Amino acid sequence: MLIYNTMKREKEFFEKKSYDKNINLFVCGPTVYDDAHIGHGRTYIAFDMIKSYLEFIGYSVFYIENITDIDDKIIMRAKENNIDPSDLAIYYEKRFKEDMKKLNVDSVNLYPRATYHMNEIFNQIQVLIDKGFAYETETGVYYETAKFKDFGKLSNRDLEKLDSHRINVDSSKKDPKDFALWKKTNEKPYYESKWGNGRPGWHIEDTAITERYFGPQYDIHGGGLDLIFPHHDAEIAQMEAISGKEPMVKYWMHTGFLNVDGVKMSKSLGNFITIRDLIEKWDPMAYRLFVLSTHYRSPIDFSSKSLEQASKNLNRLNKTLDNLNEILVKLKKFTSIEIDNDLNNKESTNNLDEVDLAKKEFIKNMEDDFNTPRALATILSFTKTINSNIKSINEKKENEICIDDYKFFEKSLLLLKDFNSIFRINLFEIKDEIKEDKSSELLEIIVNTRKKLRESKNYQLSDEIRDKLNELEIEIEDW
Ligand code: AMP
Repeated sequence: MLIYNTMKREKEFFEKKSYDKNINLFVCGPTVYDDAHIGHGRTYIAFDMIKSYLEFIGYSVFYIENITDIDDKIIMRAKENNIDPSDLAIYYEKRFKEDMKKLNVDSVNLYPRATYHMNEIFNQIQVLIDKGFAYETETGVYYETAKFKDFGKLSNRDLEKLDSHRINVDSSKKDPKDFALWKKTNEKPYYESKWGNGRPGWHIEDTAITERYFGPQYDIHGGGLDLIFPHHDAEIAQMEAISGKEPMVKYWMHTGFLNVDGVKMSKSLGNFITIRDLIEKWDPMAYRLFVLSTHYRSPIDFSSKSLEQASKNLNRLNKTLDNLNEILVKLKKFTSIEIDNDLNNKESTNNLDEVDLAKKEFIKNMEDDFNTPRALATILSFTKTINSNIKSINEKKENEICIDDYKFFEKSLLLLKDFNSIFRINLFEIKDEIKEDKSSELLEIIVNTRKKLRESKNYQLSDEIRDKLNELEIEIEDW
């Protein structure tokens, strides 16, 4: 499989030792000071798909996403609302997880909070000081970028021409490029440390967390494009200086940015869309399909028109699945007769190879750096084949249908299952109305069973069932 590695600026073969099927994946998580927006959704849906595909091809992926729960933005927002910053962070973390669940992003194994890893942060800062990579000033502890010979190797940018707004100018630093590991402050919230009261720098929380759970080296690190510099370059400088081992990460993966109607999302432009806003208007699965209709590295433009297109595609997939289920039920009856009578020598309308070819094409696209738009195009085009084959079968007489016709639809169903296990757009979800129908049928069975129990004078058991139903606020009256 090929994966585009930001470090190498090219697609590379994804290599693991043949006996090692475990992958450690870390993706930068949110700063929890507000509701997540659809740009967050884009990045996290992409990594959810990436994990799903890696598992589909046989790997076991341990996926960690940190929660930045201490940050100036959190503190500022808490002040505005007159609440405790940690309460604000917990509130938005909970809402973030609810939003992710709605988008079917549920593959993250662990969401470690920065503030729960203060000891790991202290240890890393101390090692950096001991090894001569960090120095203390009156304002904090800073990483001395000049000491790390490859500083900036991920972004590969000319560090002499850094955008000034990206760097925190502080006169106590030896070099403007040096970044904070510890920021001294006596303003609450702060943590006590041997360097005085303060708060951790942004970059150190990630390496403290990944070293704790993965050690100094691991497989994949992901995030949005905006994080390459300074965040990910700083992480590399920290971790490789601490461990003396490189590379810290084998594959660096970055998602492209999401814009709205061609422009960057921002509150002042009034085009800022939270995931909650989105799902009031759109099916979250249509949004998922919209995201995966563009390659994860490309920029993506959100517009009503593109969401409408994604909704149409979702309907087409659902409709095809319904048609498939229907024809399989119908053919099941026929094929049992066909098999019994050994009438397999009839010519099938369906070519079983077509399913294999579609599957091969689908996998080939996914193996090419998770090319979901092409993989989706393969599946959408195959739905046309399925539907036209269903039409032909419906036009055939019963005795003209053979076992290969049945096999074609069964294999097609399996292909859609595979597709859904990677795109995860709820194709095989039982519809809500069906679930409700089933529950009323179930209730009828219980009521009839009670009636029979009462007729046979087994009052104890029938009362027990009634009491249990009452506990569920289901009232049953005996006449
Ligand atoms: P933040 O909460 O801003 O630190 O972002 C958390 C993750 O979401 C990071 O990986 C960001 O790169 C990503 N992200 C933020 N905004 C967008 C956007 N508009 N499009 C895609 N990814 C984004």
